[in-house]
Amino acid sequence: MSCAQVMVVMQAYLDGEVDERTAKKVAKHLDSCADCQYESSVYVDIKKSLAQPKIDPDPDVLAALSDFTRNLAASGNS
Ligand SMILES: [Zn+2]
Repeated sequence: MSCAQVMVVMQAYLDGEVDERTAKKVAKHLDSCADCQYESSVYVDIKKSLAQPKIDPDPDVLAALSDFTRNLAASGNS
């Protein structure tokens, strides 16, 4: 599995929405790829920030999420 392929399914993977076979492939890739590990940690952090109740969305977080989504779309095109 390439980094680009991992990026495409990263969001679904972290949300537990991919099938078991895909999840295993992503997990294996993350084990050996610092870049994708970093991307996944960023996504998890963003999700945590957005999940916090009674806190207004932080503009920085929203900007980061927007960038992250754009990056995902960009890697999907390569
Ligand atoms: Zn990777």
